[in-house]
Amino acid sequence: MKFTYCPDCGTALTPKEIGDEGLVPYCTRCKKPLFDMFSTCIIALVVNEYGEAALLRQGYISDTYYNLVSGYMKPGENAETTAMREVEEEIGVPVERLRMTGTYWFGKKDMLMIGFIAEAKKRELVLSGEVDEAVWVPVSQALKMVHPAGSVSHTLVEYYLNEQKNRKD
Ligand SMILES: [Zn+2]
Repeated sequence: MKFTYCPDCGTALTPKEIGDEGLVPYCTRCKKPLFDMFSTCIIALVVNEYGEAALLRQGYISDTYYNLVSGYMKPGENAETTAMREVEEEIGVPVERLRMTGTYWFGKKDMLMIGFIAEAKKRELVLSGEVDEAVWVPVSQALKMVHPAGSVSHTLVEYYLNEQKNRKD
């Protein structure tokens, strides 16, 4: 999101040279630059001790594809806290181990996604109101159920499968 007006005082912004950043929209009244803004989300591939992944179906995102757990970061949280909170909220599973896989730019929604593999013990999934259905499926099968190649979900599932493959080699 690019700012045209100051979100605090409503003044029309004017470009100002800010260090190495070049011209940045600037509020002359509040005396501050307003850099382009984007949301930050976490996305987590939840896997259990049997090599199964928790996939979610959420009508408001897609009727065709399954999703991974994802959610917006709240101010004051670090990404790990958000990931653990979202997994627990969306499918009712406590996370035992969490590792970051990388960060991904999701241009369609102007969003930075921070990816995690979340290890958890298999248990019955308890769904939040945002989730229509959730299932445990073998991770290899998950590859065909999530959004196609190039999507962040697909990238995360592939990441996990490659990890497993390298472990066996
Ligand atoms: Zn202002």
